[in-house]
Amino acid sequence: MPELPEVEVTRLSFADRIAGARILSARLGKPLRWALGVDPATLAGRTVRGVRRRGKYLLVDLGPDAGAGLLLLHLGMSGSLAFADAHPAPGPHDHFDLATSRGVLRLNDPRRFGAVVWAPAEDAPEAVKLLGRLGVEPLGPDFDPQAFHAGLRQRQAPIKQVLLAGDLVVGVGNIYASEALFLAGIHPATRASRISLARATRLHAAVRDVLARAVQKGGSTLRDFSNAFGESGYFQLEAMVYDRAGQPCRVCGAAVRRMVQGQRATYYCTGCQK
Ligand SMILES: [Zn+2]
Repeated sequence: MPELPEVEVTRLSFADRIAGARILSARLGKPLRWALGVDPATLAGRTVRGVRRRGKYLLVDLGPDAGAGLLLLHLGMSGSLAFADAHPAPGPHDHFDLATSRGVLRLNDPRRFGAVVWAPAEDAPEAVKLLGRLGVEPLGPDFDPQAFHAGLRQRQAPIKQVLLAGDLVVGVGNIYASEALFLAGIHPATRASRISLARATRLHAAVRDVLARAVQKGGSTLRDFSNAFGESGYFQLEAMVYDRAGQPCRVCGAAVRRMVQGQRATYYCTGCQK
């Protein structure tokens, strides 16, 4: 499943190239998770002002003026975007094409949990429904240790699940939550409200570190990025604990353990995480 780093790397792969482009046409394939919400023909003639990211959504700002609205793209479980001068004829899993004067942006999504939604503005109900409850951006300036700690103090759930919930800090998926908790030395079942400021500060740094490294690693493969993501997650970090149950911890040598929290697998080391 594309996580925040993959979505950010996707954004970096085409944002500069599509900015300023004029939309020629939009083509829809099979229904996605949510409907586009506008006649695709009306997008023709608008321009692409830029591409931002909020959580795992890409926000394609349309112009020429702000009233042209924006497109919110989500990759769901299996989606990938490719931007190229031209694409082959759409295959059975190509469900959205945005043809522009600079190239064609194509969404391929075999499982169709992804979506492309038009909204007249970022504060319009269509957008607020998707973005309104997202926590702060983990790589942005609003994610700071004190506010993070204050948010943790109000939450009784296990820290791993608080990270995944996304309403305190957004976009920390299953892999990155496990890895950040390992780096911070925090047991994933620890009640969030009991985490001290010092430990919250370590976790804050660890979250930023794992996500930033993943973006960086993905960014270095941008050259090969024009077609799709590697389904193998080829820029996944060398994991310390994730998916390593039974293997020796890279720090202390104890066997990495696996448990299930909220139906998601969590990996951790009892030697390193208290
Ligand atoms: Zn260990």
